[in-house]
Amino acid sequence: MTIKNVAIIVAAGRGHRLGGEIPKQYLDVGGMPILRRSVNVFLENPTIDHIQVIIHPDDLELYNSAVGDLDLPPPVHGGETRQQSVLKGLEAISDLMAEYVYIHDAARPFLKQSTLNKLISEVEEHGAAIPALSVTDTIKYMAADSIQNTIDRSFLYRAQTPQAFRYKAIYMAHRRHENNDLTDDSAIAEQSGLKVRIIPGREDNFKITTEDDLKKAHIMTQSSYTDVRIGYGLDVHAFEAGDHVILGGVKIPHGKKLKGHSDADVAMHAITDALLGAMALGDIGEHFPPSDKKWKDASSDIFLKHAVKLIDDADGVIANIDLTIICEEPKIGPHRDKIRDKLSEIIDLDMGRISVKATTTEKLGFTGNGEGIMAQAVATIRLPE
Ligand code: MG
Repeated sequence: MTIKNVAIIVAAGRGHRLGGEIPKQYLDVGGMPILRRSVNVFLENPTIDHIQVIIHPDDLELYNSAVGDLDLPPPVHGGETRQQSVLKGLEAISDLMAEYVYIHDAARPFLKQSTLNKLISEVEEHGAAIPALSVTDTIKYMAADSIQNTIDRSFLYRAQTPQAFRYKAIYMAHRRHENNDLTDDSAIAEQSGLKVRIIPGREDNFKITTEDDLKKAHIMTQSSYTDVRIGYGLDVHAFEAGDHVILGGVKIPHGKKLKGHSDADVAMHAITDALLGAMALGDIGEHFPPSDKKWKDASSDIFLKHAVKLIDDADGVIANIDLTIICEEPKIGPHRDKIRDKLSEIIDLDMGRISVKATTTEKLGFTGNGEGIMAQAVATIRLPE
């Protein structure tokens, strides 16, 4: 196997501030050690070929109990500082001749696959990229005992991990700046003149540092998500002359197309309404009025992503989606898993939580007469109490 993408997970910090004896990356959150959660994100991503964890030499026992049963190479011992630890990790994987490396803090267990996937494509295109968040608070510059001035925040970003680079370039940069004390790998890349791009980070990809962070992490794990909501959505679109339909984001060749202001993805509209319904946040037409020219021919994933964002904003999680597509033609069965896969990517939800079913109406009614397609969706959402 050629090794193209390697993740380095930095778990060598002492971080005794939380939980007394145990370094924070080994603490349990929602029944699982933080390190294991972080490792799992990379294990679950098919593009990542190899995962190297870097630990403190004293933590081997903690490491083994956290992730010892997973299919990982032996951990590498870190150094005195984070920077030294990363360098040791980069050295340890040098035989793999990796093309790209993704350096991640073990204490950020809530990395989403969508962020990682965005990073993977960005680094392939531009060579170096990190997730970062814009700054929303007004930033003050203090001198002595009073504010000197207010900083223009439009240029400021909060850096997160994983940070992705071409392996050779970041390895060389680390060696060159071995004795500088820099706080992230992007700073080392910047010092070496590499151009580092930013992709949108996420608030939930925070680093667990303080007692408050740990509390937040506990709330974010599903055991505390006890406010369960069910939403329902229904949509219908009529056929018109054309050669394909789009269902759940998948283009399906057909003798007709669906008529609509947007791309008429009846399946995605039903799901969007089910999600909005569960949140009691109105319906798709309210959020995206058909009277607005902006949505003409729009790809419906915009609508769905908007609904998902509203759930995210409320710290909610989607438990499952059950979609039924009702039509005589086209046959949905052959496209079912492709639709599930596409929805899984758009929603950032495991395929095992997305059901796509299809039925006919035995040639009865408008769907039976081939005049159009109906879709119905049910979604379950869990919110923190
Ligand atoms: Mg519609």
